[in-house]
Amino acid sequence: MSTLLVKNIALLATFDDGRREIPDGALLVRDNVIEAVGTTHELGGRRADRALDLSCHIVMPGMVNTHHHMYQNLTRVMVQDDELLVWLKTLYPVWAELDDEAIAASARIAMAELIQSGCTTSSDHLYVLPNDCTLDTTIEVAREIGLRFHAARGAMSRGESQGGLPPDRCVEKEEDILKDAERLIHRYHDNSRHSMSRIVLAPCSPFSVTPGLMQEAAAIARAHPGVHLHSHLAEELFEETYCQEIYGKRPVEFAESVGWLGPDVWFAHAIFLSSAEIDRFAETGTGVAHCPSANMRCGQGIAKIREMLDKGVNVGLGVDGSASNDTSNMFMEARLAMMLQRVAPHKYLSEAPGGRGGFGGTPKALSAREALELATRGGARLLGRDDIGYLAPGMSADFIAVNLNQLGLSGTERDPLAALVLCGPFRVEYSFINGKENIAKGAFTGFDVEAALARHRKTMDRLHRY
Ligand SMILES: [Zn+2]
Repeated sequence: MSTLLVKNIALLATFDDGRREIPDGALLVRDNVIEAVGTTHELGGRRADRALDLSCHIVMPGMVNTHHHMYQNLTRVMVQDDELLVWLKTLYPVWAELDDEAIAASARIAMAELIQSGCTTSSDHLYVLPNDCTLDTTIEVAREIGLRFHAARGAMSRGESQGGLPPDRCVEKEEDILKDAERLIHRYHDNSRHSMSRIVLAPCSPFSVTPGLMQEAAAIARAHPGVHLHSHLAEELFEETYCQEIYGKRPVEFAESVGWLGPDVWFAHAIFLSSAEIDRFAETGTGVAHCPSANMRCGQGIAKIREMLDKGVNVGLGVDGSASNDTSNMFMEARLAMMLQRVAPHKYLSEAPGGRGGFGGTPKALSAREALELATRGGARLLGRDDIGYLAPGMSADFIAVNLNQLGLSGTERDPLAALVLCGPFRVEYSFINGKENIAKGAFTGFDVEAALARHRKTMDRLHRY
């Protein structure tokens, strides 16, 4: 048993049910759980094994990243100016050379980058598993680094010879995929409160697996409490055409036909949704991982996040894979989510009579606080967690601190919380995950950055020989 009292916090943004923002705040942590939240006046006298003074800092809940492909750190800055189809077809052959060592090297970099940018829980969608690669590797790296982790067992089973998009050597047999899903659940899925490891089943997309695999994955997930379902949906218009041609359905209709709408399902992107489909997401509790950087980088479009939020759809943020972002920075994602929604065509302006040129957005589309809420509470909901996403007694001790005494935050005293989005992105100076201090005074406490970079470079040299 050990206790930590964090006090004199310049501003403590709890994101709790009352959205309390407490000047001169304090947090009392017992082991991995928050025991009390209040002002320094209220908690300052409590006895603790350790006290931490954060009088120059803003503290908020650790952010939750809901969509990533960490192995793509090995193919950053490639295919810079082509669409997703070309992007995928160029990168598949490089990914076909992945092995466990490469997956570990890239995951280490991605996780460290995430933690440095304020993330304390992440999912990773690993859907290319050639050369006997396993998810075990990434799960072990997460354990080693101390990141709260939802490993998504991705899969592709329809290679080119079966009318799918990926080359045959990147795909797996469906029976192997399902057997491995069961194995991973039994080995790593911990559905208890404050769990550090959960499993998600995540066939890659409607154009790389069969409807049968989607159905069977859903059946396995639903036989195990807390195992959620994740995939890509409505990311590109070609997917819509593909679904119409192959299944005679729109992507959302296809998802519904295979049992993939529900509170235990969240999809990355969901850009091309009609208003009726957004209603369907809201009615069924289906979630959306919004990935603004990747959507802009690949010129895909703007998801209707404002409409989704107004209708009660669960929305979180995702940095998406490092080959389409090309970074893993949660503050940046929150900032871009806010910015992109603001330039989204606003229907009243875009439909303005008189043939006005261009289109108009609105600064009311998404606020800085809403963007941070997507990154915290929103992400936690998508992952099915009621123990992370805000700071309150009984919640997991996942919190971050940003130093307010820095150039990029000067002049923001009247609203430092909004400044984290309006002036960002920033690095954290402290990161606690499950009560453990991962970053202190701006540096990792137990992670060797130089060694991780060296291993990543070595892996790059090996992989890009092909
Ligand atoms: Zn993705």
